Amino acid sequence: MVLEFREDPTKKVSIIFSTERAHRPQVFGEEKQKCPFCRGSESMTPPTTFARPNAFDWKVRCFRNAFPLLSPREEFKGLVGPAFGDHEVIVETGEHGALFQDFQPAQLALVLETYKNRFSAMASREGIACVYLFKNHGRAAGASIEHEHAQIVALPFVPELLEREAAAFDEVSRASGKCFYCSLAETEKENILDENQSFYAVCPPFARFPGETWVIPKMHRASMLDFDAEEDRDFMNLLAFCVKKIYETQGHDYVIAFHNAPAGRDFHFHAEIYPRTNTWAGLELGAGLIVNTKSEKDALKELKADGEEEELLVQ
Ligand SMILES: [Zn+2]
Ligand SMILES: [Zn+2]
Ligand SMILES: [Zn+2]
Repeated sequence: MVLEFREDPTKKVSIIFSTERAHRPQVFGEEKQKCPFCRGSESMTPPTTFARPNAFDWKVRCFRNAFPLLSPREEFKGLVGPAFGDHEVIVETGEHGALFQDFQPAQLALVLETYKNRFSAMASREGIACVYLFKNHGRAAGASIEHEHAQIVALPFVPELLEREAAAFDEVSRASGKCFYCSLAETEKENILDENQSFYAVCPPFARFPGETWVIPKMHRASMLDFDAEEDRDFMNLLAFCVKKIYETQGHDYVIAFHNAPAGRDFHFHAEIYPRTNTWAGLELGAGLIVNTKSEKDALKELKADGEEEELLVQ
């Protein structure tokens, strides 16, 4: 088994080699295999690291990923060497087939409480520079099990894309004395899909994916850990609403990237939702040049459509 960081000297990027992950099970509806994420299947996964309301009758449950990308047992030796870090799965419901966007408010609250607990536990560990929470839903989004879940990784360095975002944030702050994201609600007010007291959802004109939607706090918050109780509720409500709209109008495969501040740095938290309808090919893979075939205005028109129109757009 190989579990290590390697650096590509030609592109100056780190790659995780995790050969074990090739063996992870695929559990989707048409297959008869038992789902390891269901309530009652706990013995099929590593031991519980956190559960709510309790480990016996849980509604949200976490455990170390059985096919990890990173290992807390290793030591960080730089960008080449053992893949030090951590990797957990957050099962967001005990019910197989229950969809994130249909969760009751009490369930959404438990899910966010769990995200925050695992984020905080991982961020406080020595040698961790970045904790990254993400959610893959559907095969085209890379999920291997259809049962709703998220994943969280702790890394000893800030990965390329997140570092680029954090550096751009610093640059704007230095040059203008303002936070780019604090100004975004004003500069992008024509592209707002919906909002509540403390958050807004926007389709940015620089989206990388057709139908991409961001959920951003109105107040400056570096990470999810800075939300108060009202913001917790507003965030999950708007996030679930956006997922529902994307599911109904863009297709059933999506990724959510939760962008929190890297350790010890300022940033403005946001969640980016990517509908996975396009396939990255020659330009994206070989040249890093992204082609988006849907403008933010067209995406907004689709996401705002209701009733029968929505149905027609589902593939
Ligand atoms: Zn299940
Ligand atoms: Zn801000
Ligand atoms: Zn981001």
